[in-house]
Amino acid sequence: MCRDDNPTHGPTLTRREALAGAGMVAAAGAVGVTLLADPAPVWANPVRPVADDLDVYVIVTDGMRPDELNPAQAPTLHRWASEGTRFTDASSVMIAETLPNHAAMVTGVLPARNGVPANAIWDHAIGDERTLDRPDDLRAATVLDRIRTEAGLTTASVLSKDYLHGLFGGRASVQWAPFPLVPVTDHSLDWFTVEALKQTITDHAPRMTFVNLGDMDRFGHMDLSGTSLRLARNQAVYNSDHKLWDLEQFVRSTGRWERSVLIVLADHGMDWSEPLRLISAAGAIDADPALRGRVGIAQNGGADTFAHLGPAGEREATLARLREVVGALPGVNRLYDPAELDLGERGGDLVATCHPGWRFSDPTPFSNPIPGNHGHEVTLGIPFFIAGGHRIVRRGQVVDRPVRTLDVAPTVARLFGLDHSGMDGRPALEAFHL
Ligand SMILES: [Zn+2]
Repeated sequence: MCRDDNPTHGPTLTRREALAGAGMVAAAGAVGVTLLADPAPVWANPVRPVADDLDVYVIVTDGMRPDELNPAQAPTLHRWASEGTRFTDASSVMIAETLPNHAAMVTGVLPARNGVPANAIWDHAIGDERTLDRPDDLRAATVLDRIRTEAGLTTASVLSKDYLHGLFGGRASVQWAPFPLVPVTDHSLDWFTVEALKQTITDHAPRMTFVNLGDMDRFGHMDLSGTSLRLARNQAVYNSDHKLWDLEQFVRSTGRWERSVLIVLADHGMDWSEPLRLISAAGAIDADPALRGRVGIAQNGGADTFAHLGPAGEREATLARLREVVGALPGVNRLYDPAELDLGERGGDLVATCHPGWRFSDPTPFSNPIPGNHGHEVTLGIPFFIAGGHRIVRRGQVVDRPVRTLDVAPTVARLFGLDHSGMDGRPALEAFHL
């Protein structure tokens, strides 16, 4: 089932089919593991020779802050980092949200080129805000499809969040549809995600696997009160770390550790706002006669993007007024021309970010009740290290050169012998004996 007859493409599934498949397997007694298709055929003559003893795992600890990579909260991750190469100056790309940074990781190009500047955009075609969760929203090649088609190797995506699974649909040879989903958060708990990853490794032996673990982010967002907020978050970090210890035991016990390169990073950090420190730009826009009905808003937690909806000839005047009105709101930190951030046309016409400890809530003050947020500058810092048992990984090294989520794809491309000269990121070669 669910096969694509075209050998150059991965299995293409509708969301409904994928979820139905997940349900069937789970009902049969498995742990939410979904096997969506057979591995891609290994081509007889790959474009470039590739080492046959290398399995790469890109593991995203969603929303983890750099200061959480410590031996008390994350003993496994901290040990991996200490035994490999740790980058101390790592950051997300703006907007510091989940979808744009996962897109940056596997395309290696900036949002203006991959089409994903934010989680939510103003979509002029439908006249509304929407999440970028469709396969055709991603407009650039990824290492998941390039390794499959250019090197003829099996790739896999094991992504805990439903919208990530949507955006990267059809890219990898093998795709796990997150299941079961937690209501409201639309993500699968890390326990299920790592079990699915182990099953995917057992059944398909992918050479490059893209993994998202959503618990840290989701528990960072969900908690609603002071002390319990931090306790639950800390517990989420510890639990996720423990599940990665379990993964390590699996990889070691099946003889795969010496084949493994682990590229571990977060997509963005996390900031917490106080209950009343919220910015609702829509109210101020509606109250201004020059702006009312002329601006669409896409809310992205710590950032809002604004799209001009009025007549083209009035764009400059409207944007000038919008800058005055939004810039004067308490809690607003910076205003950007989306071109400054390489966001492309989907980034709208103006971007506003908030100060630490604030959040945007649009269109109403009740639209965003959650205190945990990211998207703004204070959430750009991320943990980032390269580890694993493969002999090419450099041990016990700390690198201070700045790296970004954008650098993952060129690093992976380099390991598999693919051309990365057209990417905006650059490979993190310091981590390897190559
Ligand atoms: Zn995220």
